[in-house]
Amino acid sequence: MTIRQIRSYRPAMPLPSYDLTGRTALITGAASGIGRASARLLARAGAAVYCADLDEKGLAETAGLIGQEGGTAVPHPLDVTDRAQVTAAVARACQETGRLDVTAAIAGIMHTSSVVDTLDADLERVLAVNFKGVLYTCQESVRAMLAAGTPGSLVTMASGAVDTAAPGLLCYSAAKAATVQMTKTLAAENGPHGIRANVVAPGWIRTPMTSRHDTAVQEQTEAAMVRMSPLRRVGEPEDIAGTVLFLASDASSFMTGQILRPNGGVAMPW
Ligand code: NAD
Repeated sequence: MTIRQIRSYRPAMPLPSYDLTGRTALITGAASGIGRASARLLARAGAAVYCADLDEKGLAETAGLIGQEGGTAVPHPLDVTDRAQVTAAVARACQETGRLDVTAAIAGIMHTSSVVDTLDADLERVLAVNFKGVLYTCQESVRAMLAAGTPGSLVTMASGAVDTAAPGLLCYSAAKAATVQMTKTLAAENGPHGIRANVVAPGWIRTPMTSRHDTAVQEQTEAAMVRMSPLRRVGEPEDIAGTVLFLASDASSFMTGQILRPNGGVAMPW
């Protein structure tokens, strides 16, 4: 073989350990940002992706994009704070495909207020989506994976806010810290059944969640993040989708109960 032939050689399945062909994935928050990018990447890796979210229009757009890319997507509207709706979504994926291999619980909301000014209603709303919604999604997924005989991978979404004390982010960071602890506990309880559970703690990613400020605040915050990152940039949803695919796939087969931090090096905890 010449060097030129070696360079142009492409095996039929380039990265078998990332291949999700024949597997079923459920992704919450799939109508936007990180959830949409993750749904698209998992579909490109071969999974049938059940895309779940409150936002029906955004779901249709995600499913349309995946269809154009040759993948399989099933849009499923749901509110993750309603356990019955979560149960129905998981049941649908299992009934239609006979299995559930991957669940990525990505749906989330942001709220900003100081500790002193935090209202009960805001705390309850953020905990309902960012913690209880993730809990319901993981609980129902574990039950379904075990019943279907397809123990798989659970991926939850925390945030760099668990590694620092971010002023104004009490509700958000408390819910994310609870999600980290729940994910580790899930890993400890379900490892013997072959189920893995890991959590992603992204840094600042450009999505509708972080674009909710006016332009000046947005630019200032992004500039600060760029200065703090050794990579000198903020993240894009695709940066996180790569981590989700890694955790969803056999490429991470010996990894459970871990926090992965795609954050541009902004924080480097042990
Ligand atoms: P996003 O706003 O683009 O997407 C969040 C999605 O969650 C939306 O489609 C929304 O409709 C959906 N959602 C909200 N409440 C829901 C509910 N009750 N039921 C079902 N779906 C619901 O935000 P994003 O930036 O893509 O965030 C995705 C996840 O990543 C969140 O959990 C967020 O906390 C986390 N995260 C984001 C960043 C960032 O910088 N963008 C950083 C760290 C962590």
